[in-house]
Amino acid sequence: MSSKSIISIDMGGTKVLGSIINSKEGIISRVKVPTDQNSSDSAYIDSLANVVKAVIKESGYNAKKIVAVTLGIAGSVNPNTGVISLAPNLGLKNFNVKEALQAKVSFPVLIENDVNLAALGIKNFGVGKKATNMLSVFVGTGIGGGLILNKKIYRGSTFTAGEIGHVLVNKDGPVCGCGNRGCFEAFASRTAVVNQIIADIKSGKQSTLESYVKSGEKIKSKILAAAVNDGDTVAIKRVGESCEVIGSVLASLTNFINFDMIVLGGGMFEQLKDFMLPKIEITFNDYVLNAAAKDLDIATSELGGDAALWGGISLTEEFLGIKV
Ligand SMILES: [Zn+2]
Repeated sequence: MSSKSIISIDMGGTKVLGSIINSKEGIISRVKVPTDQNSSDSAYIDSLANVVKAVIKESGYNAKKIVAVTLGIAGSVNPNTGVISLAPNLGLKNFNVKEALQAKVSFPVLIENDVNLAALGIKNFGVGKKATNMLSVFVGTGIGGGLILNKKIYRGSTFTAGEIGHVLVNKDGPVCGCGNRGCFEAFASRTAVVNQIIADIKSGKQSTLESYVKSGEKIKSKILAAAVNDGDTVAIKRVGESCEVIGSVLASLTNFINFDMIVLGGGMFEQLKDFMLPKIEITFNDYVLNAAAKDLDIATSELGGDAALWGGISLTEEFLGIKV
């Protein structure tokens, strides 16, 4: 039994996932609490404090063994100060979540971007253990990236490094959520693929996904994967095109940074990895410089949605010097 643990929390747009975790036993306990997207900052902090209480209560874990609370946030955050400068999905802006939550709980609070935390989790507890320079890419609603350089997370000058989803693919491409045209995620995320499929169906192409378009039901990754596995030609074509874009962007970034590992994950990729990975690799090999890919592995993250929770352990060691 490890003598210490942390409470690692993943703050999603619709739910907060809380866990007690340490490096030896892994996830000891977890709770999931829905979040009210229209709540005030103080109500949001109250709900986080309740997650901390709930995860301790449900596990019966000795609170004295907990050394920190870590928060993974989808947005731009400064882990040194604890300020969220912008988290659009959570409705938070210029808010010091670290100070606000620390006033409510008796543990030090640490924060980090959720994708950076996932990269740290993969690097230290997942397939990335041996990697020195690693890129992790999560293909789902959008496309997120985390960068490990010389075995450490690379945050950039103003904590925005790793925004791979907004790397430009084609300046005349579709409009992206960020306001620009032709970003990587505007071509290759699940959202982009589904939008293309919907347009195909509306223009008269036959697809097993037609009923979803008619009823307006959301086409999630699982449904998309089922259509591909059923041989749906529209879905296969559009997911295949997404793989070509992913492969070419990964090759381009490998030519620039010279990684020794790329780890792929995210909702859409995890559901479709048997279909997507070989296709991504073909385009990747077409565009990468041989010398840049000499020692490179392309791997699949096996930590799934828990990668960011594991990353909290690394954050605790980095900022508090405590191994848990
Ligand atoms: Zn963009």
